[in-house]
Amino acid sequence: MAFHKDVSIIGAGLGGLTLARVLQVNGIKATVYEAEASPDVRGQGGMLDIHEADGQHALRVAGLFEEFLAIIHPGGQATRVLDKSGNILIDQPDDGTGGRPEVPRGHLRRILLNSLDPHTVRWNHKLSAVSPLGNGQHRLTFAHGSVGISDALIGADGAWSKVRPLVSQANPVYTGVSYVETYLHDSDARHKASAEAVGGGALFAFAPGKGIGAHREPNGALHAYTQFQRPVEWFDTIDFSDKATALAKLAREFDGWNSALVGLITESDTDPVLRPLYTLPADHCWERKPGVTLLGDAAHLMMPAGEGANLAMLDGAELGEAIASNPTDVEAAFITYETELFRRSTAKAVEAEAMIDVLLGPAAPQSLLDFFGSHLPA
Ligand SMILES: Cc1cc2nc3c(=O)[nH]c(=O)nc-3n(C[C@H](O)[C@H](O)[C@H](O)COP(=O)(O)OP(=O)(O)OC[C@H]3O[C@@H](n4cnc5c(N)ncnc54)[C@H](O)[C@@H]3O)c2cc1C
Repeated sequence: MAFHKDVSIIGAGLGGLTLARVLQVNGIKATVYEAEASPDVRGQGGMLDIHEADGQHALRVAGLFEEFLAIIHPGGQATRVLDKSGNILIDQPDDGTGGRPEVPRGHLRRILLNSLDPHTVRWNHKLSAVSPLGNGQHRLTFAHGSVGISDALIGADGAWSKVRPLVSQANPVYTGVSYVETYLHDSDARHKASAEAVGGGALFAFAPGKGIGAHREPNGALHAYTQFQRPVEWFDTIDFSDKATALAKLAREFDGWNSALVGLITESDTDPVLRPLYTLPADHCWERKPGVTLLGDAAHLMMPAGEGANLAMLDGAELGEAIASNPTDVEAAFITYETELFRRSTAKAVEAEAMIDVLLGPAAPQSLLDFFGSHLPA
């Protein structure tokens, strides 16, 4: 049956794009409004491990699984845990059976973008205001002044969603944990000791309240997230635009740690970037409001534990399938989608929150060894 409604998706992240693609595969046209001016306006961040049950499933539904296989970073599932002295506690090679292949986030987004009909994504369309018009319709006002009307509105606009207040009063709160992101380029030649410490995939070196996580990326880049369990105000004392002083101050928190680990901070080729982490309540949900729903971080912002992007894509795929199955009744489709969304995301958010203690709690790194003891392939 033909679908005559105007589907408006706010946000061209992995979740919004997956939804647009699944709708397109089912013959339903949608428009994605994205605040950024172009796909290349900022780097898309590092590696994502894409899981069989959610991210990979979504890519199959989107008809893009072969394209996904072509961008897998070989060896990226290797996992290594070190103590602060640099002793290897776990060294799990990537034998291809882990079920969580790593891909560069930017490449994954590019696959989704390339799969969409021209003009599906309207770049430089930052939603600045949205108001219900009744009958499930919404007026969309964009920052540069243009206005649109949606029959079905999906907020895929991330942590600080402009669409969320239509359905929920919840606001993200600080988790008590911040990451500082650094990059070491051409590491096998220029940062040998750190490259050897990280190995072929992911590195975890954690202690109570602080830790260093890193990934090897294509072309020998090392991407590190140094983690601090600190009040967000603590970081106000650091001038992140003064690279040398900022890196030295951060590194002082790791006095006495192995130099190859500390090198992941001090030898950064890029300015350190502070990423304070915020979450919504684990049981975030909302009463049904006609004509609008949320997906991805807009719906269930949670502690990064390797799930957020996977869940955003799964949300997009399931919502797309629900709309395609109920082309004459978008409300019924939204109810079907939200019922499963709320169940799934609460469970995942609780698991993600528990990871703070696994990584940074008083028993680290033993708590991390215990976790991997039950999660790594034998
Ligand atoms: C440090 C860190 C590491 C992470 N690591 C992982 C990982 O390894 N694996 C994993 O699965 N997840 C990871 N995550 C989580 C993951 O990044 C998010 O869960 C995922 O990106 C959510 O996707 P999304 O499509 O919902 O939102 P986003 O990716 O945030 O996309 C939202 C889009 O909406 C646009 N937008 C925002 N506001 C507006 C507006 N007003 N108008 C128009 N457009 C707008 C934005 O520009 C953006 O393009 C990590 C998160 C962090 C912070």
